[in-house]
Amino acid sequence: MHKLPKLTARHVDPRTYPPGVAYMDGQYLPIQEAKLSVLDYGFLHSDATYDVVHVWNGAFFRLGDHLERFFRGMSELHMSIPYDTAQVTEILHNCVALSGLENAYVEFICTRGTSPEFSRDPRDAENRFIAFAIPFGSVANKEQMERGLHLAVTDVLRIPPSSVDPTVKNYHWLDMVKGLYAAYERGADTAVLIDVNGNVSEGPGFNIFAVKDGVVSTPNLSVLLGITRQTIVDLCAEMGLPCHAQDIAVEDLKSADEVFVTSTAGGVMPVSKIDGQPIGSGEVGLLSERMMALYWQLHADDRYRSVVSYPGATD
Ligand code: PLP
Repeated sequence: MHKLPKLTARHVDPRTYPPGVAYMDGQYLPIQEAKLSVLDYGFLHSDATYDVVHVWNGAFFRLGDHLERFFRGMSELHMSIPYDTAQVTEILHNCVALSGLENAYVEFICTRGTSPEFSRDPRDAENRFIAFAIPFGSVANKEQMERGLHLAVTDVLRIPPSSVDPTVKNYHWLDMVKGLYAAYERGADTAVLIDVNGNVSEGPGFNIFAVKDGVVSTPNLSVLLGITRQTIVDLCAEMGLPCHAQDIAVEDLKSADEVFVTSTAGGVMPVSKIDGQPIGSGEVGLLSERMMALYWQLHADDRYRSVVSYPGATD
């Protein structure tokens, strides 16, 4: 096993942070030590791109796809970091190995950074790379996974692609947060936002799928091209199920036989109610259940997993 870098620790406050390890400004740190300058434009202007990959049973899932999306996002935003894909891979592996977490939520970020003169010109800033591993988390909790999520389709418009490219993973989340408050007011668990044409787009941290008469569909406009979404597209192809990336009208979502949402934070998550009305029978759908099982089975597939070498582990 390769030698792990040193983890520098000063103090640990278990009340405010989950366990975890971060990499920042060239150092591995306990998560609570990873602090950002208030002058970083990632904080001041949400000027950042990021990605989230998970580790399940000690292995990353589709890490290569997440890295590709992250590097493409940086390039679209005219950002660069002094690490190539192999070096970022090593940093992410080290964060997880040092944390000891077998099931982890691993986020990596490039912020616009700071410029010594506090210049307003983004070209003057030195971009900053940050990564961290914390325990795995999910959009849906255990109860919601069992009974199906209750969604509210809000009239909140997802930031249009002509303003912010949704395929570059970003922190422009005030529309999502507005949607969440609207959903909570209506007694729902989470929100669906709409696109510029009034069709379904995505929700806070997830893509949406509808199933009608054996045909699977998912929106293509105003959405992040989720890696979990891609896994469903791949599974449909393997199963010979038609799957289309296309506009979904709000009424078509509500009258679907089954609806599920997808995210690295939780995988495939069933939906049983939209705006208070049951979807299909109002129970978790059969195809949704099958997709959930197949999704987690794929985590044992060598095509998609990269195993973490934990300290003390023998291979
Ligand atoms: N859409 C948005 C806005 C997201 O933030 C996320 C994930 O965080 C997703 C969709 C799902 O993407 P993935 O499956 O790659 O996690």
